[in-house]
Amino acid sequence: MSLLDKFTAVQQLKSGLADTGKDPTTVVFDNIHTATRGVVEGRETILAGTNNYLGLTFDPDCVAAGVEAMQTHGTGTTGSRMANGSYSTHGKLEAELADFYHCENAMVFSTGYAANLGVLTALLGKGDVVLLDADAHASLYDGCRMSGADIFRFKHNDVHSLERRLERLEGRTGSCLIVVEGVYSVLGDRAPLAQIVRLKEKFNASLLVDEAHSLGVYGASGCGVAEEQGVLNKVDFIVGTFSKSLGAMGGFCASHHDVLGLFRYVSRPFMFTASPSPAVVATTREALHQLRTRPGLKDKLWSNANQLYGGLRELGFELGPEASPVIAVRCRNRETALADWNKLLEAGVYVNMMLPPATPGGASFLRCSVSAAHTPEQISKIIEEFARL
Ligand code: PMP
Repeated sequence: MSLLDKFTAVQQLKSGLADTGKDPTTVVFDNIHTATRGVVEGRETILAGTNNYLGLTFDPDCVAAGVEAMQTHGTGTTGSRMANGSYSTHGKLEAELADFYHCENAMVFSTGYAANLGVLTALLGKGDVVLLDADAHASLYDGCRMSGADIFRFKHNDVHSLERRLERLEGRTGSCLIVVEGVYSVLGDRAPLAQIVRLKEKFNASLLVDEAHSLGVYGASGCGVAEEQGVLNKVDFIVGTFSKSLGAMGGFCASHHDVLGLFRYVSRPFMFTASPSPAVVATTREALHQLRTRPGLKDKLWSNANQLYGGLRELGFELGPEASPVIAVRCRNRETALADWNKLLEAGVYVNMMLPPATPGGASFLRCSVSAAHTPEQISKIIEEFARL
């Protein structure tokens, strides 16, 4: 068998996707007019699979901040902060994130994926233990694997399963990190963080929460699910991304542990990749400012999320356990998912197709993400098109 033979199976998978209509992995957005409207494969389309929760990608102040930064600081940093140095705005963004999360330390990475790899590989090593929620994102799995720590999964959102795992660790819980998400990216369900914090304290373990999908969505000030459940100051490491509610690109970690500052010297996904560009940092800072000063965005997001969740539930679709801006419609099987995804696209509605193995329980889903920028009429149109399936 040659090196390239393994791609035969990949080619078959790809052809299988194309046989059913458009291939979701290669679908082209010809134009993007606004946070919720674009031209996809030549057709005017409502965008309902963007993670653009606060709808800030076209916000005039965010765009202006990005343009100004590019004009004053150039198009890119052309290297890592370790080798090429930091721009003052990297530090300002880190200070603003630390202030937002009410902790002393924050660190910016070039993507959310890199943030998870960077934090997990800095923190964990051979001999350490990680207890990982079974439905955790691929970047969390990858970071744990790269770290060399012993990995044990516990049942998704099941505190009894987590407790049993902790009990079995006996003397090792001091070097154990529990890894969960605030809101899970496929089904939109929240972690029982208050109970998880109680367990981490009981066993003297540490806790990392990925708030990628909950930043700007949950909590009185939009910090996420840890804030909503009153345990923000009990979480050891909060990680997240700028690529969803902040409409940019990049990732971060915030922590009350001062060792976070030392991750800069050991975290390879931080040290060996180019730092975020001036424009990305500037739009992120402006979006964070808007998130903090415009609570109406969150209210609008929730009104839209409740409308879509309620509408789809009334139609009898099987959805995740609770309303959230991430709404996954469970499909009978892979073939139905592909066919229905194509029908929605032809009707001018773009949603995400989620197929195994990237899905909980190996099921297939049509995943909608709701934005504060959707109008109630757009949400009604999405529901209407689902009704036709
Ligand atoms: N964590 C979670 C839970 C995610 O869903 C994602 C992206 N979908 C990431 C991390 C990675 O973020 P990014 O795309 O910004 O690299």
